[in-house]
Amino acid sequence: MSSQVLTLNPESPAGSDLILRDKALHRIAEAVLEGRRLSLEDGLVLYHTRDVPGLMRLADIVRRRKVGDKAYFVHSLRLSQTNICYVGCTFCGFQRKFGEDGVWDYDLPQVWEYVDRFWHPDLTEIHISSGHHPKRQWDYYLDLVRGLTERYPGAQVKAWTAAEIHHFTKITRPRLDYREVLSQLMAAGLVAMPGGGAEIFAERVRKQIARAKVTSDDWLKVHRTAHELGLPTNATMLYGHIETLAERLDHMLRLRELQDETGGFLSFIPLAFQPDNNRLAAELGTRHTTGIDDLRNLAVARLMLDNFPHVKGYWIMITPELTQVALSAGISDIDGTIKDEKIAHASGAVTEKGMTEDELVRLVRTAGRVPVRRDALYNELHVYA
Ligand code: SF4
Repeated sequence: MSSQVLTLNPESPAGSDLILRDKALHRIAEAVLEGRRLSLEDGLVLYHTRDVPGLMRLADIVRRRKVGDKAYFVHSLRLSQTNICYVGCTFCGFQRKFGEDGVWDYDLPQVWEYVDRFWHPDLTEIHISSGHHPKRQWDYYLDLVRGLTERYPGAQVKAWTAAEIHHFTKITRPRLDYREVLSQLMAAGLVAMPGGGAEIFAERVRKQIARAKVTSDDWLKVHRTAHELGLPTNATMLYGHIETLAERLDHMLRLRELQDETGGFLSFIPLAFQPDNNRLAAELGTRHTTGIDDLRNLAVARLMLDNFPHVKGYWIMITPELTQVALSAGISDIDGTIKDEKIAHASGAVTEKGMTEDELVRLVRTAGRVPVRRDALYNELHVYA
């Protein structure tokens, strides 16, 4: 690689020269600076460049254009009301069958007891995702959202992935469609949806890692329906297993297309594959993603998903230390306090299960950004000037 310098307009958001050591990035840098959209082929160049610092700078320009110096986090609690699941995704170490060691299955009083245990007056988001329980009735889920909304009025309920919404349509009698399921949940108090269950949209991969889960088309349909109803959602991508780089980009482009149509996504969250206690890891040989893969992936996402307000670095999966670095590689959100994460840890996440607000503020501040505590809808609650 020969060292090249592109000079930016001094008025530009980046405010300095942009040094790119890979000439292949120059054409893409021009497109980024002019606000032009990148193609799948551009994305492949970004994934293959050896100039990772240059890639990070480009992503940082887009991030800064969207949020300036701010970096967001939320006071949140993760709630998984059960780990019983019949779906059998090969990458999942969380799922259990009835009677197995380590199984749990909360009834409603147990859910209230669980939330009470972690309650904090600043708690603003209860984030729920769980297994697909084969026996729970539809009313249980409505009562769960309604009960949380009534008992903890300051906390917004952000609940259930598109895969779980798809499951709910199967347990309703008479059978309800996505629109009706979501409408009833919204009437009970649901304010947003998490982004899980997307995995990788490519059918080739999905057949191997999530054969019995919601299809890609149906995942997108659930989110389209949610957006049409005025329910904001998030989107994930599970990477670092058997997918190709082109399949990662295809995944992002399908999300970008839906966002063009609806504008209902709040954030994109790449999830690094966790390689313990699951069949897929056993087939592949155990390995975590590398720090460079994580950073590269976040930066590419920031550049490709020009219509997403935020790209999130999920500190649980990529560690708090790398999340700090990623604040200079395109991310504008670091998720939250979380308190009691179970899903990633069941598959080998090595981080703590939660962080305090002070720790998150320190993490953002020492990375040179202004911490902003937000709610589930990205309304700003407190700016730590
Ligand atoms: S990822 Fe979700 S749907 Fe798949 S097996 Fe695990 S809990 Fe079940």
